[in-house]
Amino acid sequence: MDELLAKLHQTNSLTKDEIVELLGSLTPEGRKELFRLADQTRQRHYGKAVFMRGLIEFSNMCKQDCLYCGLRRSNAGVDRYRLTEDEILECVEEGYELGYRSFVLQSGEDFRYTEELLTEIIRRIKARYPEVAITLSIGERSERFYRTLFEAGADRYLLRHETASRSLYESLHPGMSYDNRIDCLYTLKRIGYQVGAGFMVGLPGQTAEHLAEDLLFLHELQPEMIGIGPFIPHSATPLAKAEGGTVDHTLVMIALARLFVPGAMLPATTAMGTLDPVGREKALKAGANVVMPILSPLAVREKYALYENKICTGDEASHCRHCIEMRIVASGYRIEMGRGDHCGFRTDSCLA
Ligand code: SAM
Repeated sequence: MDELLAKLHQTNSLTKDEIVELLGSLTPEGRKELFRLADQTRQRHYGKAVFMRGLIEFSNMCKQDCLYCGLRRSNAGVDRYRLTEDEILECVEEGYELGYRSFVLQSGEDFRYTEELLTEIIRRIKARYPEVAITLSIGERSERFYRTLFEAGADRYLLRHETASRSLYESLHPGMSYDNRIDCLYTLKRIGYQVGAGFMVGLPGQTAEHLAEDLLFLHELQPEMIGIGPFIPHSATPLAKAEGGTVDHTLVMIALARLFVPGAMLPATTAMGTLDPVGREKALKAGANVVMPILSPLAVREKYALYENKICTGDEASHCRHCIEMRIVASGYRIEMGRGDHCGFRTDSCLA
């Protein structure tokens, strides 16, 4: 195990068999060493900075039916909402006043937000606040759509690959294509976006081999951002009775992802904070370096329920910012409110 960790630290790579062996042989001391190496790697690139992104969940409508997701179209119990263009702008304005310079616009796959409408929203944000970074996380669309929004000023795109195993992917995403998901990621890269991939830990049927494939896929794609979180079962989905992922297991995958893609922007996800009151702090210590407090209007927060008991649904944006800031500083890190680009795009955030 020690040799595998040393090899990974030096080369940022392992074979599939080696990853499986490492996952199966990690002792408590090995975990500590893994987290130490991951934290050291993150500090080499970004120091002690934790990059803040304001998350605006602008629609919970979704045409997809992912088995794990509370927003899936078959879940008739969801109180669906869409924010208007002006409401989205108001969230950005509130976030900007609070100091955010990086915004993530996320939704289900809601095609009512057309190319024209989203272009207009991005243009308005950029006209008013030219210095901010805009990340989109709105699912699979056409190359033309991605290109138009990039030209309108979108900087980044998050599209988790969810799992790099074709068979596991197909078992969880009725009517969706694994190849299309992967093609979208490469298309986004080619267009020039900073791209985020990522996966859930603890999906039903997921094995160490599947997780090894996720790491190898990340290594091949070299995304600028990597979102990894535990799968949390939602009671109104077909996976209600599944066990779900654990914080401990997810921490190991976050640390490994840091070592496989050392310069990635890697969030300590809300799902980690939902399973463990200090889950996000633990993620920071295991190599994560991004936090995404929610800026959506209070009236809709609870309705964006991918899973239940999500944290921060009742807090004002200003309260969220101060709560998470205190936690980050108490963990020994430093808040960074700038755009927070990946090192390969702009060097302001970067030490390495
Ligand atoms: N529709 C967009 C997409 O497909 O990328 C973005 C929104 S989607 C709801 C955001 C992410 O939530 C997904 O990529 C998935 O990994 C995560 N997610 C969905 N259901 C979840 C659950 N039950 N537990 C943990 N994460 C979940």
